Amino acid sequence: MSRVFNFSAGPAMIATEVLERAQSELLDWHGTGMSPMEMSHRGKDYMSIAEHAEATLREIMEIPSNYKVLFLQGGASSQFSAIPMNLLRGKKKADYLLTGMWGKKAIAEGSRYCDVNTACSSADQNFSEIPAPDSWNLDPDAAYVHYTPNETIGGVEFHWIPDTGDVPLVADMSSTILSRQIPVERFGLIYAGAQKNIGPAGLALVIVRDDLIGDVIDGTPTMMNYQTMADNDSMYNTPPTFGWYMAGLVFDWIKEKGGLKAMGEVNKRKADKLYEAIDQSDYYSNPVRQDCRSWMNVPFILGNDDHNEAFLAEAKEANLVTLKGHRSVGGMRASIYNSMPEEGVDALIAFMADFESRQS
Ligand SMILES: *Cc1c(COP(=O)(O)O)cnc(C)c1O
Repeated sequence: MSRVFNFSAGPAMIATEVLERAQSELLDWHGTGMSPMEMSHRGKDYMSIAEHAEATLREIMEIPSNYKVLFLQGGASSQFSAIPMNLLRGKKKADYLLTGMWGKKAIAEGSRYCDVNTACSSADQNFSEIPAPDSWNLDPDAAYVHYTPNETIGGVEFHWIPDTGDVPLVADMSSTILSRQIPVERFGLIYAGAQKNIGPAGLALVIVRDDLIGDVIDGTPTMMNYQTMADNDSMYNTPPTFGWYMAGLVFDWIKEKGGLKAMGEVNKRKADKLYEAIDQSDYYSNPVRQDCRSWMNVPFILGNDDHNEAFLAEAKEANLVTLKGHRSVGGMRASIYNSMPEEGVDALIAFMADFESRQS
């Protein structure tokens, strides 16, 4: 067996222990003679899988009981429209903080349903920083404030939580959920596509305060109404059963590893050492302002763009794959989510130093 260190931004690595457990249960889950993929979602076996996953997530994230956890389909991108449909609640305006490409997409979709106020934007800084909060133009009448705690493409992350007073805070945590402890009670709604830090693509998680559910705009599809999903325990229709099962295995794995506190410590250490290697080199650079560098996605530029092809090819030889940067940023990007072992980051740093030493 030869597993590589996969630095893909998403779909991303899943811990080998988790894949092995899924493998061992694939043909015969707990004596049922079938895999979780083949079970009726309404049968007691699958129900126990679904309930266990939710209970473990609630435990590791310390989700208060007045929040619903929804296991949905359509990726994070569907939530760009579901959020205004469900959270406008008679209002006509919403605030969005714009710090990268995903926030931009959320705004484009949100604008179809309400007046979007872009309360701050770092577009002019090429999304390399978070504008200072005292420069934001928040509207006290906004239905909610939407932001992207970690911008996956630019590698820009909030290491603090915006204060929006009584206006519900909505966070697209697709690429940072479960990477550390967070106080869920500070948020009105948290959502995330699964394929970065949760499990296989095809599942999206929504964690929403229950008083925000139940007053949708006219024409909201039944499937996008959080009330429908909450009332039916996310089983109004057939849920993404395999993804939900796999997410449960990932939650178990996080718990076994010491929970989100331990995850946060390892993630900080992994990111710190990679940024340190970049900063102490005259060859590599990272464009993001120091205080908002992502723990999860680390873009870096080589001293000469003509070296990119060789870097990628030689990295691949060293079992370090999917390092090519997003086309909008260029260079490289190392995504180092929970499932990237620290040895993977160490191997990348060693490779980078070796590659640099061979450039004239
Ligand atoms: C990947 C990503 C998305 C898109 O997720 P899909 O599940 O593909 O819709 C949205 N927001 C952020 C921050 C992401 O990283």
